[in-house]
Amino acid sequence: MDDGVKSGQHAVRTSNLGLILRAVRRRAPCSRAEVAAATGLTKSTVSSLVGELIDRGLLREAGAAAGERRVGRPGVMLEVDDRSIAAIGLEVNVDYLTIVAVDLVERELFSRHADFDARAAGPGASVHRMAALLAEALADPLLAERTVLGVGIAVPGLVDAATGTVTHAPNLRWHDVALRGPVAAALARQGLGAVPVAVDNDAGLGAVAEHRGGHLAGTPDLVYVTGEVGIGAGVLVGGVPLRGARGYGGEIGHMPVDRGGPRCGCGRRGCLEARAGIAAILRGTVPDLLPDGPLAGAAIARAVRATAERAASGDARARGALAEAGEWLGRAAAVLANLLDPSAIVLGGYFVPLAPWLLPACEAAVAAHTIAPPRGGALVHASTLGLRAAARGGAASLVDALDRGRLPLPPRRRPAPRG
Ligand SMILES: [Zn+2]
Repeated sequence: MDDGVKSGQHAVRTSNLGLILRAVRRRAPCSRAEVAAATGLTKSTVSSLVGELIDRGLLREAGAAAGERRVGRPGVMLEVDDRSIAAIGLEVNVDYLTIVAVDLVERELFSRHADFDARAAGPGASVHRMAALLAEALADPLLAERTVLGVGIAVPGLVDAATGTVTHAPNLRWHDVALRGPVAAALARQGLGAVPVAVDNDAGLGAVAEHRGGHLAGTPDLVYVTGEVGIGAGVLVGGVPLRGARGYGGEIGHMPVDRGGPRCGCGRRGCLEARAGIAAILRGTVPDLLPDGPLAGAAIARAVRATAERAASGDARARGALAEAGEWLGRAAAVLANLLDPSAIVLGGYFVPLAPWLLPACEAAVAAHTIAPPRGGALVHASTLGLRAAARGGAASLVDALDRGRLPLPPRRRPAPRG
């Protein structure tokens, strides 16, 4: 057979496998007949492709034991198989690494959060530490028997997703750091073979996590705002990530909000994150607890806890600084609201534990600067995913890529039927 025809047929088959996977994910439990009706594929095509998806550990018949395939029983219900696959997300940020592994229904199998000064460590040592954390996850009994779909890495900066390169991450001080190759090599050294490695922006992946599994899951027009040393926005419009011409969109941390304001990590003055990023907030709330020089490592999480404790006890300085940061966030959120009209703006990361004192001023500023009539409920919410959001998004985006036929299918767990 002609190679072109063969590869065309392969592409159609891959695309149909994804179509079926998505249909079952949406409707499970559902029968083969329902899948055929939902996808427009013939019953025999559905039957053959469902068999392949079962063999590869992606679908199962409801109630079936692992590896069992009870062919030919009409009306048997299908569901996504949560037993044999794991997708891993890994976030590297200024002061920590977070790793989350999920199964195929995006239930968390494993998560670890480690204080880590990625800025001081530099790219080489950071990759080394990321590989160690991956090894720890892979050795966990809940993951040990599973096929790893891939590793999705979240980074606070501009990312060239096509090449897996961090173009510019000012708060990490990384420029043109190729992450995909070294992480893939580390995985290969652990005997995993060629595991796909994706690299993307932390805010964009946070938005994916909120859309697929946060308390506002399913909200199609949503903005996720990271609350770290840097501030970034992941924007979903109609459920689709807004990436921009080069994939560099969403950098609201460097929106100029305050002419003559403090110096930002990017070198400019007046950026939002120099006013409302977590380092700026902590300088206002707990200046007596901060070390000299740039804030890094475990000191950040400690100072965030101290800030929440002081604000809860009524400390006027802490509450005042949080209200001021909340107002800066609200002004930026109003720009997003006027531009995009999202259903929800979700504040993530370190903004979550500080939300009780950030949100009132934030909401007041949004109300004051948004032209549309007030909506029924709150526009700005605190995330329920905390510091796991970006890593969860990295894992979830791999599951989504599989559903869309953009990842190699995992190997068959039993030989293909002959003929
Ligand atoms: Zn800046």
